[in-house]
Amino acid sequence: MEHQPPPRREELTDPADTIVAVATPPGRGGIGVVRLSGPAVARIADALLGRLPAPRSAKFARFLDAAGESLDAGIALHFPAPHSYTGEDVLELQAHGSPLLLEALVARCVELGARRAQPGEFTQRAYLNERIDLTLAEAVADLIAAGSEEAARAAVRSLQGEFSRRVLELDELLAALRVHVEAAIDFPSEEIEFLADPVIGRRLEAARADCESLLAEARRGRVLTEGITVVIAGAPNAGKSTLLNRFAGHEAAIVSELPGTTRDLLRERVLVGGVPMTFVDTAGLRDAADAIEQEGVRRARAALERADHVLFLVDALADPDGATFEAERAQFPPGAPVTRVYNKCDLPGAGTPRHANATPGNGAPLRISARTGAGLDALTRHLLAAAGYASSEGGTLSARARHVEALRRCHAALEAARTALRTMQAGELVAEELKAAQRSLGEITGQEDSEELLGRIFSSFCIGK
Ligand code: GDP
Repeated sequence: MEHQPPPRREELTDPADTIVAVATPPGRGGIGVVRLSGPAVARIADALLGRLPAPRSAKFARFLDAAGESLDAGIALHFPAPHSYTGEDVLELQAHGSPLLLEALVARCVELGARRAQPGEFTQRAYLNERIDLTLAEAVADLIAAGSEEAARAAVRSLQGEFSRRVLELDELLAALRVHVEAAIDFPSEEIEFLADPVIGRRLEAARADCESLLAEARRGRVLTEGITVVIAGAPNAGKSTLLNRFAGHEAAIVSELPGTTRDLLRERVLVGGVPMTFVDTAGLRDAADAIEQEGVRRARAALERADHVLFLVDALADPDGATFEAERAQFPPGAPVTRVYNKCDLPGAGTPRHANATPGNGAPLRISARTGAGLDALTRHLLAAAGYASSEGGTLSARARHVEALRRCHAALEAARTALRTMQAGELVAEELKAAQRSLGEITGQEDSEELLGRIFSSFCIGK
């Protein structure tokens, strides 16, 4: 099945327009930068500066209004097409960082024929002029938005082309494989022998393994850029609010000895090992006494549905067998992993829980004290590992959910190709799956773009980038 051709690129941002925006953040500062890109740059520079500065050299200039009076004086830089960020003629004005002045400069450029830029429009033009691919464009936004040093480093790796390079390498591997398989189809009498050639099997396996490691790195990257949501559930009084406060480092939730105090959801976004985690404290799951509390329980259940991970707290003293966990088990959402965590282990008598394998996946149950902080390091490591992120595990590429999705589809297609090759020796099927795998990869770099996708990506940028 053939897919739709990509939209005509001119529909996205009209290259006949010259765009202008303030590129520095709002507010006062030492310097403010106004950036222009498009065909009218030379003409606007003539009017605004008296003349166009020489390419790529800093020129001190007066910025003139319509009457020829100085609005300000500063540095002007001209980057002629195609050797600029956008691939078009670009002019950067470094003025004093006054919001009123910068607005006056932008207004003056608009008066001279420029149009105010949309968010991300400079980067969008860079993409449309093939200066960068989509992963690079997204890495620009991720670097600007990075909430931790780890996230910034991952964005820089992607920005330096690491992600695109790896995707292209995999794409080339698949292209070569397709040539081989399609040649087999062209000679039906020898197709079976062709496909039985161990070179094909080996190449396919190499491609699958490559895709798998790329997927793992992209998953970690997604966790870094988008973070995860951890819902803290458990019976009233199990210590959920206390644990949230521990993570948050301050008193965000009301802690009390009366069951049912936390009636609403409390959220805290915290950096844990460089990973942004949103902790949600839920009202205790129980038969609520009044309408407000019932609403709290309803919200708690809704939050559980959206969680990336659920921590189910069990009061190690009051409920050593984890009966509260067992009672709720059937109602956990199927999507997210649930970890049973025994709390209040600082209390005498809160001995070793009887369920030795209460934590899914790795044997011993997690035992903590939200009050003293004991066991929290292990809990943090557990959360990071469950999210597929541990900084010691190889590299991390700045990635988003859409990259992870595309790589997952690519991986599934390669698995299907492997099955088709092994069991049915069906060349047509193998070729079809390889094609699907390549199509998924194309979505990552933007070879398979769509107006809707581009709109979504670039609208999340700030104006002036
Ligand atoms: P929630 O209803 O699950 O949110 O529970 P809270 O966080 O409000 O805690 C209920 C009670 O248990 C409070 O008195 C807390 O001080 C206490 N508590 C919570 N965690 C611990 C813990 O690790 N050790 C001890 N000894 N008490 C705790």
